[in-house]
Amino acid sequence: MEDLLAGALSRLDEAAKHVDVDPEVLEKLKYPKETLSVRLMVRMDDGSRRSFPAWRCRYDDTRGPTKGGIRFHPASTMEEVATLAFWMTFKCAVVNLPYGGGKGAVMVDPHSLSKSELERLSRAYVHAFAGMIGPDRDIPAPDVYTNSMIMGWMADEYSSIVRQPSPAVITGKPLALGGSLGRDDATARGGFYLLKHLEQDLDLISSAKRVVVQGFGNAGYHIARLLHEEGYRIVGLSDSRGAIANPGGIDPYAVQAVKSEGGSVLDYASRTGQARVVGEDDLLALDCEVLVPAALEDQIHKDNAGGITARVILELANGPITPEADRILDAKGAIVLPDILANAGGVTVSYFEWVQNRQGYYWTLEEIHDRLKAIMEVEGRRVWDLRASKGISMRTAAYAHGLERLSAAIAAHGTQPFFVG
Ligand code: NAD
Repeated sequence: MEDLLAGALSRLDEAAKHVDVDPEVLEKLKYPKETLSVRLMVRMDDGSRRSFPAWRCRYDDTRGPTKGGIRFHPASTMEEVATLAFWMTFKCAVVNLPYGGGKGAVMVDPHSLSKSELERLSRAYVHAFAGMIGPDRDIPAPDVYTNSMIMGWMADEYSSIVRQPSPAVITGKPLALGGSLGRDDATARGGFYLLKHLEQDLDLISSAKRVVVQGFGNAGYHIARLLHEEGYRIVGLSDSRGAIANPGGIDPYAVQAVKSEGGSVLDYASRTGQARVVGEDDLLALDCEVLVPAALEDQIHKDNAGGITARVILELANGPITPEADRILDAKGAIVLPDILANAGGVTVSYFEWVQNRQGYYWTLEEIHDRLKAIMEVEGRRVWDLRASKGISMRTAAYAHGLERLSAAIAAHGTQPFFVG
């Protein structure tokens, strides 16, 4: 984890070789603009008070207010938050949203809390960071182990602090509180539109279309469902408790039915006999055409990348592949559709939600899907073409594409050539 930010920055250095960029731009992008670290004191149901470390980082706001999710996870750290905020900065630039990048986290295992403890923790987070967030300053959203219910509590807390309804402060809210249609599956759907748009270029049309999904949460369930409906065969799945496989195909709806009752993918396998249990690394090495990491960062590393057979890797998780593993996959000829492009559907529909909140005018699901599809296809094609014209990886091309936009915005604010040239 210590190397997470260093690994992320190494991708920036690589991209900078392919873009005419002022050194001042790189200096600006190498450090977060603002990070606040606090401890949240929360009353437990038994009357005691416990404290939880919490952070919010606004990495860069050159292109607009910062935007990024809040994660509740026992292994979260300040460095992880800054790295995720760095990725958000590039992601918003890659799909041309008028945002900078931010992120937040609480070091907590939310599964160990009761619902009322979770609500008090969520409200305490907003209380602590109320001066940092805001509809024109920094706009949070859900991430790992946070959801629309938590976003609803947070929007409510912020509105009571500023003494007026302020739905645009946070996205991923329940529909009843100004959420957007289509936000629930937006991350997966954006990746799905990208994959479908590039299907021919990726040589997937006539192939067997077998898929492995690591992590069966919001992003993982919806991508499995969308690909299953499109005729792809889901041959392996995992969650934090374990991994399962069936070369004949797994029905994602049936797995989700078990998960929604509190079960795991392992419970699905034992209850139905429709899949066998495999090891975590064996899952990644299953024969398939498309691998979808949809869990956490650093899951594909130098020790397991060599076993991967997939030709296409659709990164729905943020940072699932380490730089060393990237090199191994590149040498094998695998094409990685990188996180800052492939999972940008989530922040794109969050942007739609923010626009709708500010307009007070709400769009149909069809409008949301059409607008998301158009963005994923236009920006996906640009990155694909940049990759081909420069002979670089999709990841480097995506960073270069984002860097060009960031660089133009930073230069427009004034860099050295502006003052002395
Ligand atoms: P989630 O909390 O809904 O699901 C996470 C899933 O990963 C759970 O099923 C959990 O059991 C599983 N998991 C955890 N550790 C695992 C491990 N070691 N091996 C296999 N599975 C494991 O979270 P999510 O919103 O689906 O986010 C997943 C990834 O997608 C994260 O990297 C997140 O940053 C990224 N992402 C999410 C969104 C979004 O809108 N939800 C947007 C962009 C990126």
